[in-house]
Amino acid sequence: MSGHVAVVTGGAQGIGLGIAGALLAAGNRVAVWDRDPEALARLGEALGAGADRLIGQEVDVTDGPGILAATAALAERWAAPAILVNNAGLSRDKRLVNLTEADWDLVLDVNLKSQFLCCKAVVPAMIAAGFGRIVNIASRAWLGGFGQANYAASKGGVVSLTRTLAIELARKGITANAIAPGIVETPLMRGYTEEQRARLERTVPMERIGQPDDIARAVAFFAAPENSYVTGQLLYVCGGRSLSSPSV
Ligand code: NAD
Repeated sequence: MSGHVAVVTGGAQGIGLGIAGALLAAGNRVAVWDRDPEALARLGEALGAGADRLIGQEVDVTDGPGILAATAALAERWAAPAILVNNAGLSRDKRLVNLTEADWDLVLDVNLKSQFLCCKAVVPAMIAAGFGRIVNIASRAWLGGFGQANYAASKGGVVSLTRTLAIELARKGITANAIAPGIVETPLMRGYTEEQRARLERTVPMERIGQPDDIARAVAFFAAPENSYVTGQLLYVCGGRSLSSPSV
């Protein structure tokens, strides 16, 4: 039981929900920052934890003042977070000729700027404590993907941000690592036909779609206090899909 306070952004569903569950199982108290109040309301039931160990805070991770307010409220309630998992993200896939400036700004703001803003809010207390674990969710797509100029660029930015944080914070007892998931089963995929699913599976060397728990276990490794000598790394959790970079 590490008993730290952890923040998981975008943790009300999908991969983030799995991450929140893994950090709870490791003995942490978890605050989920998400902008979806209905999904936040189902959090306790979804993870089988009470408000003494799991809370949802309605936060838009592109809203700097809102993030600072949530950080202060969390510190007041429990303690300043020692673990930050920057997971919130979205995609607006279109090929370059159709991509609008609004599509670009939205994806860069939610996927990349949010990670900067959340780090800005929580890192000062980590430095003061001499301990911190930052885990940023990137994507295998940072390698580049058809119709993904904005998404790939945002996730490439996540990799660079993580490496820089690792260098700056190494002497402060704070590690920063990133995870590059491949294709992961999330609510979005429930609308897929069997044929679409099979086609996707064939693009993965292991021939299966990843589950949120696959990503969550990797996050738990980086977030564990004993894993103090691994920083600035990008871990692919993608069933081997990064090895051939196929198009969907
Ligand atoms: P999801 O859509 O299932 O969940 C994302 C969560 O983030 C939602 O709860 C949503 O409300 C929240 N969110 C979105 N914008 C937000 C904002 N501005 N402020 C606060 N919360 C916000 O997505 P997912 O598939 O679980 O993806 C999680 C992360 O994993 C993302 O960063 C995504 O890019 C990355 N990823 C996903 C896959 C995949 O196949 N699912 C693959 C590679 C990387």
